[in-house]
Amino acid sequence: MTEKTQLPALTWRSRARGLADSLLNFVFPPVCGACKKAGSLLCEACRAQIQWVRTPLCNRCGRPVPRATDCCSTCQERPLPLNQIRAAVLFAHPASKLIHNLKYNGAFGLSKPLAQLMADAWAEWRMSIDLVLPIPLHAERERKRGYNQSTLLTRNFCRFVGLPFTEDGLKRTRFTTPQVGLTAVERLKNVQDAFATQVDVVGKHILLIDDVCTTGATMAAAATTLLIDGAKSVSGYCVARAI
Ligand SMILES: [Zn+2]
Ligand SMILES: [Zn+2]
Repeated sequence: MTEKTQLPALTWRSRARGLADSLLNFVFPPVCGACKKAGSLLCEACRAQIQWVRTPLCNRCGRPVPRATDCCSTCQERPLPLNQIRAAVLFAHPASKLIHNLKYNGAFGLSKPLAQLMADAWAEWRMSIDLVLPIPLHAERERKRGYNQSTLLTRNFCRFVGLPFTEDGLKRTRFTTPQVGLTAVERLKNVQDAFATQVDVVGKHILLIDDVCTTGATMAAAATTLLIDGAKSVSGYCVARAI
């Protein structure tokens, strides 16, 4: 096992990054990832339309419910191995458009405003975390896309909130078909035993990061692996919650 835990924000690195960002903005002025308006990656008008996740929620899976509960009907039916799953916003326009462009149109820069949304909502969830890990893509899918969007979200989110992270702490051991279009049970089967731990997680409270959470099946499969390998607890945090 190799351990390359990264601590956020060394000063010279932040300065270098700031300079690189300014240069990049000069050469390629940013446009809004949702409406294409020039000026920033997420314009004020689109940001104002973001639908934040609001209580009441199921305390475990983070699903919005009519009355706050520790275990909603879905969690009773399919108990999650995670302590909690939370998301910053609902998977609705304009967040859905930003996430689509991040994942499928090469707009990797959008990981920054999306991670900022996660950082803005983070204080509300008050989780005590020792180490943050992104949900990995299969190596072949990552090679085709050029990056793993969850790694970019993790990197930016951890820098914003000051949490330690390891980019390759988990890996996919086999190729899985995309979860879109599958039922909850099919999703669980599809990702079962699809992960391997590559970092020391013994006794640690782990936070998994992903872009979208629908049934939580991917996070559940990753969490099961981490718990078998000695993690004390596993929680999940996504940009958006699909309802
Ligand atoms: Zn916009
Ligand atoms: Zn629930």
